[in-house]
Amino acid sequence: MDKCSRCGAEMTPGALYSPVRLSFRPQDAKFMTLSTGDVLTKAMMCRQCGHIEITGDVNKLRRLTSGPEGEGRPGE
Ligand SMILES: [Zn+2]
Repeated sequence: MDKCSRCGAEMTPGALYSPVRLSFRPQDAKFMTLSTGDVLTKAMMCRQCGHIEITGDVNKLRRLTSGPEGEGRPGE
């Protein structure tokens, strides 16, 4: 299912550490009842060409940035 977007070979799942695990913090995150504004990332590396793909948790991002569905005015 997870194929390299560059060469189409098999991807191996993992994560990037630096020395702690990398996470993504959206600029307009709302810190309501959430314990952290960080979106964890996961990574896939191609066995063939070494291409690394980083994917974030979109559900977490949605909770951080949009709040109640519908009112999505960015900025303020
Ligand atoms: Zn590849």
